[in-house]
Formats: sequence, C-alpha cells, structure tokens
Amino acid sequence: MDLVNRIVEKMKSENVRWIDIHFVDVPGRLQHVTFPARELLDDPESAFQIAIGGFDGSSITDFTMINESDMLLRPVPETFALIPDDWQSPPGVAAGRTARMIAQIFWGGYKKGEAPRFEKDPRYIAEKAEQYLAEQGYKAYFGPEVEFTIFDSLKVDVTQPWARMSVEINSREAPWNTELPIMRFKQGYFPANPNDKLFWIRQEISNVLEDYFDLQVEAHHHEVAGAGQGEIDFRFDTATRAADKVITLKYVVKNVAAKYGMVATFMPKPIYADNGNGMHTHQSLWDIKTDKNLFYDPNDEYAELSQLARYYIGGILKHARALSAIVNPTTSSYKRLVPGYEAPIYIAWSKGNRSAIIRVPSYMKGIEKAARIEYRSPDPSTNPYLAFAAMVAAGLDGIKKKIEPPDPVDENIYAMDPKKRRELEEIVKKQLGTKLQLPSSLCEALEELENDYEWLFPIFSKEMIETWLELKWEECRKIGAYPHPVEYYEYFDI
Ligand code: GLN
Ligand code: MG
Ligand code: MG
Ligand code: MG
Repeated sequence: MDLVNRIVEKMKSENVRWIDIHFVDVPGRLQHVTFPARELLDDPESAFQIAIGGFDGSSITDFTMINESDMLLRPVPETFALIPDDWQSPPGVAAGRTARMIAQIFWGGYKKGEAPRFEKDPRYIAEKAEQYLAEQGYKAYFGPEVEFTIFDSLKVDVTQPWARMSVEINSREAPWNTELPIMRFKQGYFPANPNDKLFWIRQEISNVLEDYFDLQVEAHHHEVAGAGQGEIDFRFDTATRAADKVITLKYVVKNVAAKYGMVATFMPKPIYADNGNGMHTHQSLWDIKTDKNLFYDPNDEYAELSQLARYYIGGILKHARALSAIVNPTTSSYKRLVPGYEAPIYIAWSKGNRSAIIRVPSYMKGIEKAARIEYRSPDPSTNPYLAFAAMVAAGLDGIKKKIEPPDPVDENIYAMDPKKRRELEEIVKKQLGTKLQLPSSLCEALEELENDYEWLFPIFSKEMIETWLELKWEECRKIGAYPHPVEYYEYFDI
C-alpha cells in the first residue's frame, strides 16, 4: 500500500477531523493553517499532487507583494503525524483529532499541475541543495544537536521601550532561587535527579517525538547552562528532512512546555554569564551511487578524514564569516559567540578543540559511517532549511575550488599566546583570505555576506539573498537603536 493510501487509512481509523498544514516563513518561524480532513479524504490524489488549500503570501514575513499574493500548499506525505490531543484544548474540551503535515509552497494562478514552486519557500531551497548535491554525485547528511531553554515563566515588558524595558524570568532550577538543589551556572552537564528538574519534560518531549512524529531520539540531556537548558539529538538525515525535523522538534518542545504552563526558547543567549543555545551540526558527504561515506579515509593519521572532507572544511572556513549571517542570524547569536561558554569564535578546525568552529569527532576509529565534521557555530535561531543549504553551498565551493584548509589547531585558541595567535591570523588570512575570528555582531556578519555571496548561487537566488539581507539589516539596526538597560548601569553616572 503506498504512502497516500496509508495516510488515508490512518486518518479514517483515527477519526482525524482536521489537517494542520505547517511551513516556515523566511526568518524560520513556524506558520500553520487548518483545513477540514474531508478536503483531503474526498480527493487525496489531487490534495497531494496539487494542493490542499491556498493562503495569502503577502501576509507572511518576506514572502510576496500584496499584488501577487495567492499561494498554494502541497502537503508532503512523509511528514504526516498525529498531534497529541492534549495540546489542542483544555481537559474536557474536544477540539477534534488533528494531524499535521509540512507543506511545499507553490505560486497560485496557474492551470492544474502547472504551478511553479515558490522560490522563497525555505523548504524549496533545502530541496535545491539536495538536487545540487545529486548533480555532483553526492548526498549529504546532517545531524543537528538542538539546544534550548525551558523556563517556568517569562514576562517581557517593552510597552514603552523608550522609557522602560524589563525581563522577568523564572526557573525551577535557577541559582537565583532559594529552593535546593539547584543547577549552578555552567554546571548543568549532567547532574542527576533530583537536580535535573526538567528530566521528566524532556522525557515527555522525546516520547512525543518518537511516538507521534516518527523522529528517533538518539539522546536527551540537561545542558551546561544552569537554569533550564536542555538538548535533544536525533538521527542524522538529508538536508530537507533534517530541517523538517528541527522545526518539528522546536514545535514539540514549545508545545509540551506550554502544556505545563512553561515556556521554551531557542534564542541563542537567554541568560547573561551562562552558556547559550547552540545547534552544532554534524555533516558528511556520501557517494550517491555506492553509498560510501566520502569523508572517511582510514589512511589519514590525523582524523581518518579524506581529502574531499578537507576541501569541504576549507569551503566552510573560507566563507565562515559570511555564513554567520545565515547560521547566526540574530543579535542574540553574537552574545552566545563569546569566549568562555563553549561556543566557538575562531575560524579553525581540529579533532578535539572546542574553541574552533569545526571539530572532527573522534570518539572511535575505524567506523566508516561515523566519519563526519561538526560545525559548531550555528545556533537554533537560524532557519534550518537555509542553514543546511548554505552549509552545502560553502562545502561544495571548497570542493570545487580545492580550498585547502590550514593545518588543524589543537591548542585552545582562547588561551593562546598573543604572538602565536597573530601568526595563526596571518596563516588564515594568507590561505583562506579571511580573518581568524567570526563576526562579533549581526551587522558585521551582514556586511560580510554582502561582500561574499556568490558561492551561494548554485542554490540561492540573488533575490533570496537580498531579501534575507534586507530583513536582517532592519533587525540589527532596530535592536541597536534601543537604549539598553545595561547602558544605564554602565553610563548613567558618566
Ligand atoms: N551550549 C554550547 C554552545 O553554545 C555547547 C555546549 C555543548 O554542547 N557541550 O555551543
Ligand atoms: Mg551534544
Ligand atoms: Mg550540547
Ligand atoms: Mg556538539
């Protein structure tokens, strides 16, 4: 029985009444629109082939202009999942069984079957990355480690931003609470219960991911930050599907937290002086025909890494500063990327060194399928479809141009003697034409992308890059123009 039939059967046997269609806008926020299940059950072929419904593209951040706004949604059958009933409504209220599917977006206003894909649909860009890989005989796998923070409550007051701003955070684990035991700053990795007061909620999140969303969890754990930080890792997948899984994971984390009156955030740096939320991304290239891991070379003494993998690393390092504008796309991202919190800031690679943006995990030798690189600067405020697509573009640019990365740096670069670091700076500049450090602000990253984006062209359109730049420039200018509470603390008495 093919997938569509299986979905129809499941919808009938589970009495599914509503279909919730998901997609993300350009910045990566999850959007949804709900249709009656009969729309699909009456004519499943056409729902899956053409569309289940339309929407107004001009009302979604950075999609279309108001005069060209009719869009169509085609659900992707592989993403079908029931939504837990207890998310829908308070106990005792029957909201109706609901299933979700992630959709591809098409332009409206065409004859049946002729509608073109909407170029700015982020999922389309990830699909294009896979196509581009396939054209060169590759497929790529991505294994993101998504970190997040769950608070008991959060109150942000920006009602009069010119005069008053306040943030009030509450966490059952917070060191500023008197209740013991607590999680100390930077010591959240991995004290057992009863310190880990969020064990049960990660457990429920993981159950829902596995039982409802067919997302196999590889591990979940408390993370290093004291109050409320967690991480959930799932099995690697191709760019589009791994990004589907990231948006699914964020959706599930937020909804399970909401079920208990708590709030989850994926912002990169929610709390000063503690670790931020990263999204380290493991990746490898495989031969599409022979299914061999092309990053693996047992004869390489340093890290069992092939020359192809080194070129891929070269591409990421060379474009790392411009890539930041995509994989670290918020002003909060740059508050995470500072020394002292296990977030890397140096454009270097190494086996074990966590101060370098690329690490080659070396837990075990001699295992072909485990050969991969870990790109450590990305964070979960990124749009995962665009992030994985951009990583592919940078890595393949490295392969195409045979960009040889400088030698690996196994020393902690934060603690390096300044003279030695200057030498390293020179090497990186000479060999890759880049600075040793990642940008220190969103504005700086955007400037970098403005001057270095051609490598994105096999996958991204110029229009998409311009849209992104415009959106993000506005964000960093706006936020930079706010008087910040800490400025009062530092400067009021000047
Ligand atoms: N939270 C750290 C970061 O921001 C990572 C910590 C870890 O995974 N050990 O990247
Ligand atoms: Mg991890
Ligand atoms: Mg981690
Ligand atoms: Mg990691």
